[in-house]
Amino acid sequence: MSTPVAVRNSSHSGLLKVEWPGGRVQVLTHGQLRARCPCSHCRAARLRGRIDVVNPEVRITQVVDQGYGLQVVFSDGHDRGIYPWAYVAGLG
Ligand SMILES: [Zn+2]
Repeated sequence: MSTPVAVRNSSHSGLLKVEWPGGRVQVLTHGQLRARCPCSHCRAARLRGRIDVVNPEVRITQVVDQGYGLQVVFSDGHDRGIYPWAYVAGLG
Protein backbone atom coordinates (compact mmCIF):
# COMPACT_ATOMS: atom_id res chain seq x y z
CA MET A 1 0.00 0.00 0.00
CA SER A 2 1.37 3.39 -0.93
CA THR A 3 1.37 6.47 1.22
CA PRO A 4 0.93 10.00 -0.14
CA VAL A 5 3.82 12.18 -1.16
CA ALA A 6 2.00 15.20 0.24
CA VAL A 7 -1.28 16.23 1.81
CA ARG A 8 -2.34 19.85 1.45
CA ASN A 9 -5.33 21.22 3.28
CA SER A 10 -7.00 24.53 2.50
CA SER A 11 -9.76 25.55 4.87
CA HIS A 12 -10.22 28.64 2.70
CA SER A 13 -11.22 26.68 -0.41
CA GLY A 14 -12.60 23.74 1.56
CA LEU A 15 -10.43 21.30 -0.36
CA LEU A 16 -7.97 18.63 0.66
CA LYS A 17 -5.40 17.67 -1.97
CA VAL A 18 -3.62 14.34 -1.70
CA GLU A 19 -0.61 13.72 -3.92
CA TRP A 20 0.27 10.07 -4.53
CA PRO A 21 3.47 8.49 -5.83
CA GLY A 22 3.27 8.37 -9.61
CA GLY A 23 1.64 11.76 -9.93
CA ARG A 24 -2.02 11.14 -9.11
CA VAL A 25 -3.54 14.12 -7.29
CA GLN A 26 -6.82 13.65 -5.48
CA VAL A 27 -8.96 16.67 -4.69
CA LEU A 28 -11.56 16.00 -2.01
CA THR A 29 -14.01 18.46 -0.52
CA HIS A 30 -14.17 18.83 3.23
CA GLY A 31 -17.89 18.08 3.22
CA GLN A 32 -17.27 14.89 1.26
CA LEU A 33 -14.66 13.77 3.77
CA ARG A 34 -16.91 14.57 6.71
CA ALA A 35 -19.72 12.56 5.11
CA ARG A 36 -17.39 9.58 4.68
CA CYS A 37 -15.82 9.69 8.14
CA PRO A 38 -14.79 6.10 8.92
CA CYS A 39 -15.11 6.25 12.72
CA SER A 40 -17.51 3.83 14.38
CA HIS A 41 -19.91 6.61 15.38
CA CYS A 42 -20.28 7.96 11.83
CA ARG A 43 -20.45 4.51 10.26
CA ALA A 44 -23.32 3.66 12.59
CA ALA A 45 -25.06 6.95 11.73
CA ARG A 46 -24.78 6.19 8.00
CA LEU A 47 -26.19 2.71 8.54
CA ARG A 48 -29.22 4.42 10.09
CA GLY A 49 -29.48 6.64 7.01
CA ARG A 50 -28.33 9.81 8.72
CA ILE A 51 -25.72 10.95 6.19
CA ASP A 52 -27.87 14.06 5.65
CA VAL A 53 -26.77 15.46 9.01
CA VAL A 54 -23.49 16.58 7.46
CA ASN A 55 -23.30 20.30 6.90
CA PRO A 56 -21.60 20.95 3.53
CA GLU A 57 -20.06 24.10 5.03
CA VAL A 58 -18.04 22.03 7.49
CA ARG A 59 -14.31 22.63 7.24
CA ILE A 60 -11.22 20.65 8.10
CA THR A 61 -9.25 22.60 10.68
CA GLN A 62 -6.36 20.17 11.14
CA VAL A 63 -4.91 17.03 9.61
CA VAL A 64 -2.54 14.76 11.51
CA ASP A 65 -0.44 12.08 9.83
CA GLN A 66 -0.92 8.93 11.94
CA GLY A 67 1.39 6.80 9.81
CA TYR A 68 -1.21 4.35 8.51
CA GLY A 69 -3.65 7.09 7.68
CA LEU A 70 -4.82 10.63 8.23
CA GLN A 71 -6.59 11.89 11.33
CA VAL A 72 -8.93 14.69 10.36
CA VAL A 73 -10.26 17.38 12.71
CA PHE A 74 -13.41 19.16 11.55
CA SER A 75 -14.81 22.56 12.41
CA ASP A 76 -17.86 20.89 13.97
CA GLY A 77 -15.53 19.52 16.64
CA HIS A 78 -15.42 15.98 15.29
CA ASP A 79 -11.91 14.51 15.46
CA ARG A 80 -12.41 10.76 15.86
CA GLY A 81 -12.00 9.83 12.22
CA ILE A 82 -8.73 8.31 11.07
CA TYR A 83 -8.82 7.68 7.34
CA PRO A 84 -6.52 4.81 6.34
CA TRP A 85 -4.55 5.64 3.20
CA ALA A 86 -6.23 2.90 1.18
CA TYR A 87 -9.62 4.33 2.20
CA VAL A 88 -8.56 7.83 1.15
CA ALA A 89 -7.33 6.49 -2.18
CA GLY A 90 -10.76 4.98 -2.83
CA LEU A 91 -12.65 8.24 -2.25
CA GLY A 92 -13.74 10.42 -5.14
ZN1 LIG B 1 -16.74 10.17 12.54
